[in-house]
Amino acid sequence: FFIYTGGIMAGLNDMQQQACEHVDGPLLILAGAGSGKTRVITHRVAYLMDHEGVNPLNILAITFTNKAAREMRDRVDLIVGEGADRVWVSTFHSLCVRILRRYADKIGYEKNFDIYDSDDQKSTVKSILKDFQIDPKRYPEKMFMSEISKAKEKYMSPDEFARRNAADYAATKVAEVYTEYQGRLKKNNAMDFDDLIYKTVELFEHNPDVLDTYQNRFRYIMVDEYQDTNHIQFLMVKMLARKYRNLCVVGDDDQSIYKFRGANITNILNFEKEYEDAKVIKLEQNYRSCGNILAAANAVIQHNEGRKDKALWTDQDAGEKISFDQCDTEYAEGDLVASRIKTLVRQGVGYRDIAILYRTNAQSRVLGEKMVYANIPYRVYGGTNFYARKEIKDVLAYLKVINNTTDNLYFRRVVNVPKRGIGEASLSKVESFADAYGLSMMDAAARADEIPGMAVKTSGKIKQFATLIQSFRDMLQDGESLDAVYDRILEDTGYESELIAEHTEESMTRLENIDELRNKVVEFVDENEEAGLSEFLEEIALVSDLDSMSEDDNQVKLMTLHSAKGLEFPYVFICGMEDRVFPSGMALNSDDPDALEEERRLCYVGITRAMKKLYLSAARERMMHGNRISSDVSRFIREIPPLLFEHEADMRNMAKRRETESVDRYNRGDLYSDSSYGSSYNYKPRTPGKEYGQKNPYSSYARQKSYGQPSTQPAFGKAFVVSASGKPDYEVGDRVRHIKFGVGTVENLEKGDKDYEVTVNFDRCGVRKMFASFAKLKKS
Ligand code: ATP
Ligand code: MG
Repeated sequence: FFIYTGGIMAGLNDMQQQACEHVDGPLLILAGAGSGKTRVITHRVAYLMDHEGVNPLNILAITFTNKAAREMRDRVDLIVGEGADRVWVSTFHSLCVRILRRYADKIGYEKNFDIYDSDDQKSTVKSILKDFQIDPKRYPEKMFMSEISKAKEKYMSPDEFARRNAADYAATKVAEVYTEYQGRLKKNNAMDFDDLIYKTVELFEHNPDVLDTYQNRFRYIMVDEYQDTNHIQFLMVKMLARKYRNLCVVGDDDQSIYKFRGANITNILNFEKEYEDAKVIKLEQNYRSCGNILAAANAVIQHNEGRKDKALWTDQDAGEKISFDQCDTEYAEGDLVASRIKTLVRQGVGYRDIAILYRTNAQSRVLGEKMVYANIPYRVYGGTNFYARKEIKDVLAYLKVINNTTDNLYFRRVVNVPKRGIGEASLSKVESFADAYGLSMMDAAARADEIPGMAVKTSGKIKQFATLIQSFRDMLQDGESLDAVYDRILEDTGYESELIAEHTEESMTRLENIDELRNKVVEFVDENEEAGLSEFLEEIALVSDLDSMSEDDNQVKLMTLHSAKGLEFPYVFICGMEDRVFPSGMALNSDDPDALEEERRLCYVGITRAMKKLYLSAARERMMHGNRISSDVSRFIREIPPLLFEHEADMRNMAKRRETESVDRYNRGDLYSDSSYGSSYNYKPRTPGKEYGQKNPYSSYARQKSYGQPSTQPAFGKAFVVSASGKPDYEVGDRVRHIKFGVGTVENLEKGDKDYEVTVNFDRCGVRKMFASFAKLKKS
């Protein structure tokens, strides 16, 4: 039992204390990075509970990620001792899901609605385009998805969208698709991510009693990262706060980086107009970064026009200077980063204190590989999402049809997986029948024998499938636990045995992942005794892998600059500091001057993540969109005063050369660098590395490839590496145990190309042959 001894106001400066104490009426905290905005929200929650006696149930704090929400709750707990678990701290999306799970019926949905991810959205749009005979080459799915999303962010219904865009041909197409899309989702009892917020606002708008309930419930509302809210989120907050007006928002207009997702910086800039009596507090002291880092951040962001000028200061030392290196290739850049990390670690720095940030997800591949070869434990956040894997999506789709039989999308996804000999033609018949009688496809499948024109054999198979799904529903109904049902699904559908039979490395990996998902199910069941399938699916739909970031894992963190928002790390590497990577080529070519400014804000976000030391790097040449492209050093580097860098003179030379260059090569559109910056400021590794001086930029990569790579990305941080040489510690005749098949006797053990192949006769399920390193058999 730990009690925070300092009191609520300890560790807060005067302005921060004022912000905590202002409890009634609207409050805007507008302040730069690292000035303690998030800390203020946390302490303010504690202050409300402890000092003002506010019931924790009456407090709502909205954060940008689930991870931030969890952290905030933990910290409040530390300060006030208990009760923090009753404060509602969540993201907009989780908040909306919880509200809709209670009241979705008021807007015509069932409470167990599905949540569609972008893949589901895409397949829905795709099938609409097909039915409407719209050519996706002329009007791509993505265009529809993004237009629909933009409309929802503005709280614009399909009808209104159609009304407003009647004159524009392409827009009328969007309106048609938007209308149909909403119709199909509704029919499937599904909502996409934008709907979660849209439908909540709709719910509030049409049900004043429900709104009133939540207004009374959330008397004190706080929103972090307010600069990245979009219009509909703004509407929702405004509705909730209308009655008590105790709304506190915190944000930094310089860190608005989600315009492409509809974030509306004017929400923060107009707060004072919306709430004329708002108290505005500015925080100016930065507690996160040492002097040089802060100076660099300030210098960069000052190049943006039309911003509210803010001066951030720190009383920390200048600290170490910023390092900058231009390497030959992205591979050399990765090597350099790896070698620097090793140096840091030798000096006693923990891997967990280091983050590598980059502009695009694609950069994570090479950087991740370099970590592998340097034996540096690392984890990529936001890369290939575990939940985006095919097998995981398949199994989840099964869970989803079981949860919500109204959904035709997931029905279609699983009805023939594994193959049951049910073809598209038969499915069309099922669908027509369903439409004719106002049924879901699942209900129609249960009556497949009534469907006209269907062969008896086929209708039998379809009916069988419906019976199978019903059997799982019955199990849950009878109170079977979720993990037991999970196992039955894998077995009875034949999904697992198909993968086992396939017996390839790939299929073994899939089995591993399915097992990993099972772990998740078991964990969920343990932690949520009351909760059922619907809640499990909801949790899965809302997690991002960033949420599972844990300080316990001593790993270097790799993530995009966008994902790093709100976080801090002692040592930060920002890679790919090249024009057309960062700032992106799209921003450089855009007619909208704010596109470049948004990149600059992102750069400001990146720099201000660093506490102790910032490493910037660039490559002269890298692979982009399938071509090797040469690039200049990012203009953002040149916006940082040379005296802040380790190699000040070199940086000065670079700046000078830049000035004398009469033509901006980007304006000329040249693709290839003339290396006019030479190598004078190029980093010469102090610890001689292997490959910095290499002539052939590809050689190091080629060599590494032949080392053999781990067959999968780590899932849930669990590295999964095939052992090539390890001889199994059991022999023919030994009794062994397999995690799934139970106990059996080893019948044969053979050395294959890559791995031992072991044949086991299992007591429960007979003879199986598998790769030893995958099978993970234990002698029993
Ligand atoms: P960002 O804009 O990046 O989200 P922020 O304004 O939310 O930053 P915080 O994350 O709340 O800033 O604080 C930055 C760091 O400074 C944290 O490590 C926090 O604990 C520390 N900090 C904030 N205020 C104080 C203070 N008064 N005294 C000491 N440390 C502080
Ligand atoms: Mg913050």
